[in-house]
Amino acid sequence: MTKDSKTIPATLIPGDGIGPEIMDSVVEILDTVGAPFVWDKQLAGMAGVDAVNDPLPKQTIESIRRTSLALKGPLTTPVGGGFKSINVTMRQEFGLFANMRPTKTIIPGGRYEDIDFVMFRENLEGYYAAMEHYVPVGDDPKGIALSTGYNSRAECRRIVKFAFDYAVANNRKTVTLVHKANILKLLTGIFLEEGRKVAEEYKGRIEFNDRIVDACAMQLVTNPWQFDVIVTTNLFGDILSDLASGLVGGLGMAPGANIGEKAAVFEAVHGSAPDIAGKGLANPLALLMAAVMMLQHVGRQDLADRINHGIKKTITEGGIRTKDLGGNATTKDLTAALKQQLS
Ligand code: NAD
Repeated sequence: MTKDSKTIPATLIPGDGIGPEIMDSVVEILDTVGAPFVWDKQLAGMAGVDAVNDPLPKQTIESIRRTSLALKGPLTTPVGGGFKSINVTMRQEFGLFANMRPTKTIIPGGRYEDIDFVMFRENLEGYYAAMEHYVPVGDDPKGIALSTGYNSRAECRRIVKFAFDYAVANNRKTVTLVHKANILKLLTGIFLEEGRKVAEEYKGRIEFNDRIVDACAMQLVTNPWQFDVIVTTNLFGDILSDLASGLVGGLGMAPGANIGEKAAVFEAVHGSAPDIAGKGLANPLALLMAAVMMLQHVGRQDLADRINHGIKKTITEGGIRTKDLGGNATTKDLTAALKQQLS
């Protein structure tokens, strides 16, 4: 078997809008370094609706079930038509309980230098599993809007343990648990309570502290360097991880992974960017960094390091940047420069 052998089956979903453009770029770069993936290309999002009137076709689900591994482009959420959220369906179908988002400075000279922390967001529960309804008041049938979220002890334990195990495996020093247990005493109190029990099991190996979410938001802006690994509930994680991406260059630089016991799905944090789709302007780096996380997930740290090094050289020394990063390179210019750097 040669170093370039493709031996790991993986599902490839190009996605909508800028998805196919940035996915082409990423696959070219993965091929350049001899990544081990054998792609099974599948549809989802509007591409799925157009082909088979389903934003998450059965065939795509079957493929991920077979491969347990997917690289997914951004999907446009169909408006109306009674379609269920694709991301929520995928998370539930494959039990993708952990959303992992690394935040690392790659481009120097921004507002912040040397940022390097990882955020874990609980992906299945909280307010995002909400049962919502209206309660009539007088003759207003929608007088009160009601939403009930939940957090289970088992899921709180699983996500916090996942963050601690990541910290141990990656030589991180501290896990910070973010909650709002002073006000949402039960809903996020159980997360803090379970988190403290998990922290005891890692005592002497990993430090543990906690923050109230509003204070954490402020501290992420005033002193983000104090954070190493953050673990939090679904809604807080959604908001704080976008804030975190803003510290290191915005959505074009933010990769993410959804990890479960049955599968792992890697993607950029950004959406399908309809305003620039088809113009060749999209930044492929967030999706490429998601592919780097996928390489780490399958044990190819060597290739991950090579691509990370190539990205750094291309956009810092080479100064090749797309418009969102203040440059004038097209997706194709950046891809070509990266390939040259990696060849
Ligand atoms: P968006 O992330 O698509 O775009 C927000 C802004 O960021 C736009 O100005 C866009 O041009 C810019 N941008 C995003 N990615 C970029 C990139 N790689 N390079 C350069 N610029 C980039 O958010 P939106 O406009 O709110 O959403 C568009 C669609 O995407 C919606 O249908 C939304 O539901 C969907 N969405 C999907 C996902 C996902 O599949 N994971 C995530 C977020 C939004």
